[in-house]
Amino acid sequence: MRRAALALAALATLASSPAACRWAPGERSRVVEVDEDGDGRIDFWRPRPEASEVRAPAQGTDPPRTVVLAIDAIPYELFAELQREGRFKAFFPASRLVAPFPSLTNIGFTAILRTRPPSGYEDLYFDPARDAFIGGVRDRLTGEYKDIAPFHEQFDWEEPRLWGAFVFYLPDRVREAELLRIEEILMQFARGGADPVGRNDAELVLYMGSTDAVGHVGGREALTKHLLRVDDVLARFLAAGGGRDRVVLLSDHGMSETPSRLFDLETALDRAGFRLAATGKETRDVVAPAYGLVGSIQLFTSPGQEEAVARAVVAQKGADFAVWREEPPPGAVGTGHDAFSVGAVDAADSPDPLDRPFDTYPMLRERVRQAFADPPLNPAHVLVSLEDGWHYGSALFDRAVEIRGTHGSARGSSSVGFLASNVDRTPAWIAATDAFPWLGLDSR
Ligand SMILES: [Zn+2]
Repeated sequence: MRRAALALAALATLASSPAACRWAPGERSRVVEVDEDGDGRIDFWRPRPEASEVRAPAQGTDPPRTVVLAIDAIPYELFAELQREGRFKAFFPASRLVAPFPSLTNIGFTAILRTRPPSGYEDLYFDPARDAFIGGVRDRLTGEYKDIAPFHEQFDWEEPRLWGAFVFYLPDRVREAELLRIEEILMQFARGGADPVGRNDAELVLYMGSTDAVGHVGGREALTKHLLRVDDVLARFLAAGGGRDRVVLLSDHGMSETPSRLFDLETALDRAGFRLAATGKETRDVVAPAYGLVGSIQLFTSPGQEEAVARAVVAQKGADFAVWREEPPPGAVGTGHDAFSVGAVDAADSPDPLDRPFDTYPMLRERVRQAFADPPLNPAHVLVSLEDGWHYGSALFDRAVEIRGTHGSARGSSSVGFLASNVDRTPAWIAATDAFPWLGLDSR
């Protein structure tokens, strides 16, 4: 009951929130931002002629305070382009942060923040032991999502989850309300006031989640527009004192640039004599959670049906490849966690479906193996990566919104997010599992 009341209060805030404070016309241009040593990164700010300067930490140092802003679903290419255009200049050039496969939020942040595995790939997941679907929108209302995806515990602030449930229908309201709140928190932190939301005064981890829906529905143009606003908010924060702290920006995956349509999983399975079912009672029943509209499918099959199901799915237009975990034969040498091989099949029936160019399928073999070695608590038996231009998910939802971009597949467009630090020159490529040391989160 109390939770329902809180949820309603959050919704009321959303309905009435004013636009985030912006720079008054010309205000930003009055702040002096100086790149003293010509390395491309701002070294100090002088907010007003009479004010004292805010000096950035020297490269490679370890400032006492850290701010991490995780922005959902920002492709590396987009962030890098804005940096080349002179935005986000307080940061060294961004790294390409390669999401795990599938390139989904829960999987990505679990790897980046090194938290306990989530229950499933998305907030609605299938539990084979209970032979039932668990989670989904209802859990956003009750707060159970923190059990489903423990990485949420690492965020000192994120949008009330009810906003998340509305973000596809009220994207402008949600992203404004979110940016406004993040700006308030950042400005309070910059002024050195007591940390309004954090677990300690030295680390602040904020999550901007609305950008995922902005990208899905509004496409690259809408994402760019919103990121320019984020840059303005950050510039104010940095000039107000935040520029002395370690500040790290990152995203959990990319976003394709192609409008996409719903993959017909039911027909694919039907043709091969399988049945798309809500439970896995019969040998030829296949269960696949349909939730967000994403570029991958997680399939639960009866034991021994993995390869046949994978072949059935890749025969359908829109599927790129499918992979499954193959256990070693009983009595084989070398057992334990890593003693498995990966089966793979693609539409062309290539001899090695995972032998693909790095620039379009970065770190593919490692990511596919990791998907089975280090899975959610309820691992799927077959994972499918879709072609760009196709998504899978809730048919109801598919009819309600037009999808202009998505993520989830193994392709670079969906998988490559970014990481940018104002203290470290980070490597050109970082696997999501290797991102944590760059965040400067000593207390976690
Ligand atoms: Zn995400």
